[in-house]
Amino acid sequence: MADLPVKIGQQYEAEIVGISHDGEGVGRVNGFTLFVAGALPGERTLVRVEHLKKQYGYAGLVEVMEVSPDRIVPECTIYDECGGCQLQHLSYEAQLRAKRQQVVDNLQRIGKLQVAGEARIGRVSTTAISENSAPDFDETNMDEGVIVHPTLGMTDPWRYRNKAQVPFGEERGGLIGGFYAQGSHRIIDMDECLIQHESNDEVVARVKEIGARLGIRAYDEELNAGLLRHVVVKVGFRTGDIMVVLVTNGNVIPRVDEWVAGIREALPGVKSICHNINVKQTNVIFGDETRVLWGSEVIYDYIGDVKFAISARSFFQVNPVQTEVLYGKALEYAALTGGETVVDAYCGIGTISLFLAQKAGQVYGVEIVEEAIADARKNADLNGMTNVHFEAGPAEDVLPEWTRQGVRPDVVVVDPPRKGCDPALLATILELRPQRVVYVSCSASTLARDLRALVDGGYGVAEVTPVDMFPHTVHIESVVLLVRDETVEKNPYVY
Ligand code: SAH
Repeated sequence: MADLPVKIGQQYEAEIVGISHDGEGVGRVNGFTLFVAGALPGERTLVRVEHLKKQYGYAGLVEVMEVSPDRIVPECTIYDECGGCQLQHLSYEAQLRAKRQQVVDNLQRIGKLQVAGEARIGRVSTTAISENSAPDFDETNMDEGVIVHPTLGMTDPWRYRNKAQVPFGEERGGLIGGFYAQGSHRIIDMDECLIQHESNDEVVARVKEIGARLGIRAYDEELNAGLLRHVVVKVGFRTGDIMVVLVTNGNVIPRVDEWVAGIREALPGVKSICHNINVKQTNVIFGDETRVLWGSEVIYDYIGDVKFAISARSFFQVNPVQTEVLYGKALEYAALTGGETVVDAYCGIGTISLFLAQKAGQVYGVEIVEEAIADARKNADLNGMTNVHFEAGPAEDVLPEWTRQGVRPDVVVVDPPRKGCDPALLATILELRPQRVVYVSCSASTLARDLRALVDGGYGVAEVTPVDMFPHTVHIESVVLLVRDETVEKNPYVY
């Protein structure tokens, strides 16, 4: 690496030109890229090179010589130690701008898509498109590029999480519960997490007190000994229901009745106290067996008007306020009038399926995890919805099967995991040629890759809306509307 323009251990002045997908500043020194944790775009910095690869390196921030106007003092006192948030040193407005920019960069670099200039943002209204029940693909939009709207953020971007998973440990003989120090498995005690719902903080604090009073020993990861591993708390934002799950290394909780009585007395909002047993030496939180110690097996919450049952282990979106915003956008882009057939690929517990079923003729949801499909079916029953059909299996296999059975979707919604859609699924979508494809994405890079495939197959990207589901972290979700390009020859399958 002798020919690289920078050397390990040396200090350099670096201009910070962007923000990486891990939240580090992207610095340039003599044309070479250095990732600098804690540095912000627009800043002039002094950095020390710590680690080098052929194409780029990592450097520590020594001094900020020119400070970004967007730099703020993080609200959280343990921000640097924790690592759960990555962007608290950037004002919230600037976080939203940076997230939109990440999406734009990915669409351009990976998707090779033209993005409309700032001037056009907001000029084309989505309602104008969605009011048109048989939308023609507007080619003028394409000519000028894809519209990427401003990120939809939270009015109050704090206290948004409905689930806390808190590791427990011991320090000088006392019970502690908090978080793993950044990049390690050392537990640091914590009383308050500013992105958690207040009641989750309260529950963790009380459970810690009760555990200490009862002399409960915490699990020790290295020795694989001790009892209490994690306390998981869930709260329904709309209902106020609270669930507490004690995850233990072993079947028996000593003085369990006193635990239950203590929790019920200190926390009257608690509707469910569960015990999950995990005796494996692993960093996976839950074991296979869950028992109800007291109360109900599930708690309830709502996304919009749809009610969901949440069990100890079932998946539920962690930011219910923004989930409603995200799925509201998906619903708007789906432009349903009541009779449409909709496919929700990667449907999880059916959140989007049920949300769309309120306005669709028939919804088909597919998801690879069997338990999630069982939850989806229960949730459909809970809401008395009969126009939804769920099936467990890989979307790339189930969708062709549905096609053979005669299912012809007007709208296909995909909400894949970070690795994006399976190429076979994209191929099936292109064969089916639904009028609209709504792509909900948690990874801008795989989104850009998949959009390119859909565009090459005869779809136009009408618009993109980033939604901030996880303020102060680097995560970005986006909803994209793709519309069938009528100039591309129709598929014999359809109509
Ligand atoms: N919209 C869902 C969440 C989707 S997350 C909800 O709100 O619940 C992505 C989902 O894709 C996960 O549930 C994951 O289990 C599922 N998945 C991953 N690979 C899949 C595949 N090949 N076919 C179908 N589902 C898959």
